[in-house]
Amino acid sequence: MDFTRRDFIKRLLFLGGSILLSPITPHAAQKRDVQWIPAYEKLEIEGKLTQRIKQAYSLFENCQLCPRKCGVNRQKGEKGFCRAPVKPVVFSYHPHFGEEMCLVGGKGSGTIFFSNCNLRCIFCQNWPISHEGKGKEIQDEDLADMMLHLQKIGCHNINLVTPTHVMPNILHATRVALKKGLHLPLVYNTSGYERLEILKILDGIVDIYMPDMKYMDAEKAGKYSAGASDYSEVTKKAVIEMYRQVGVLKLYHQGIAIRGLMIRHLVMPNRVAGTEKFVRWVAEALPKDTYVNIMAQYRVEYKAFDYPEIARGITAQEFLEAMDWAEKYGLTNLDPQSVAVRNFYRHGSSS
Ligand code: SF4
Repeated sequence: MDFTRRDFIKRLLFLGGSILLSPITPHAAQKRDVQWIPAYEKLEIEGKLTQRIKQAYSLFENCQLCPRKCGVNRQKGEKGFCRAPVKPVVFSYHPHFGEEMCLVGGKGSGTIFFSNCNLRCIFCQNWPISHEGKGKEIQDEDLADMMLHLQKIGCHNINLVTPTHVMPNILHATRVALKKGLHLPLVYNTSGYERLEILKILDGIVDIYMPDMKYMDAEKAGKYSAGASDYSEVTKKAVIEMYRQVGVLKLYHQGIAIRGLMIRHLVMPNRVAGTEKFVRWVAEALPKDTYVNIMAQYRVEYKAFDYPEIARGITAQEFLEAMDWAEKYGLTNLDPQSVAVRNFYRHGSSS
């Protein structure tokens, strides 16, 4: 398929437009915000949010929040694979301008970085936070205040980075913040290593799921993500459940994401990420217009230096073949920045 300058402009116009085609002014955006109701607010109106929080909190007593299923009692201070306590530990929270354009908009994605991680990849760029747990332990009420602060400074969403092991705290904090006026979509920004049973608790609470799909091969997943050789099979089921809950990505004012599924896939050197299998799976299991971000920014971090197969960045050729596979299997909603990078490598310009 030829991707012409006109196609590129059309895609930008699509992103810049709105489903409602209403005027793009700050006033209009505010009016729209008042009309839109986040998923968790609807659940609260139905009287179901408190029960979900109780259900989630009970999981801390025999922690099975993720596929590691450690069974530790985090209420009593026991720690499992993720080493997370029962209270949330937060490294930082701020508007993030490096996320996908439909999350960033003009005022940033309201990102909260949780410390600790249930996957712990050896090439993690955030390893001091995810592996070493650097951050500050807080109360759920503090987390609610962070959400409200991000809303107050104009962020377009609450972007929860590595949320899996603190999901009960997030739900509680969301309800506290809702009572004080929170009115933004939650972005569940996860490694994708999620249990179906846990995702069902989130049904009707999360508006935007943003899972990674890191590997399609059990041996690679086990080797580079702390023995999680079931990653690919677990993640495929999780992503299908996420799609069932929120559907294809929808945008509103100024191309801002409001609800839906956004999949991230990081291209790795020497085809470690199984990119061809990944795009083929998306094309067969999900609608062709599923939002997919094929990312070029792999860099050697943390312990990746010790593994020759991944101890280098990717080449332009490796990124181009990944994007070619996405075209070949008919994916139609690729992240515009990835498309611009592809065009730059192909033609020497982003159009
Ligand atoms: S969230 Fe942590 S303690 Fe709970 S099952 Fe997963 S890794 Fe284990």
